[in-house]
Amino acid sequence: MSNHQDPVFKFLKPLIIYAYHGECILCRAPRSGLHVHHVDFNSSNNSALNLVPLCNKHHKFVHTHSVTRLHVLDYKNMIILSDLNDFIREYFNI
Ligand SMILES: [Zn+2]
Ligand SMILES: [Zn+2]
Repeated sequence: MSNHQDPVFKFLKPLIIYAYHGECILCRAPRSGLHVHHVDFNSSNNSALNLVPLCNKHHKFVHTHSVTRLHVLDYKNMIILSDLNDFIREYFNI
């Protein structure tokens, strides 16, 4: 599902959960133990814009049904995540 050893993914995971207010983007219920999913199903694409939090149930659902339209962020949040991508490229030198 995703490469959890990747340092960029590890760095981004809590920030992505924070950016989406600590909620699964499908059921919107705040939960602990959220997964962070790659929207395009490519686990090496760790762009902040490719990552969304999902609860265990909906993470399974998205993979079972190959759901690729998942972004629900507003424009302001999209800009923050784009800035995060710039930071990641400099910090991790990629
Ligand atoms: Zn959910
Ligand atoms: Zn996933």
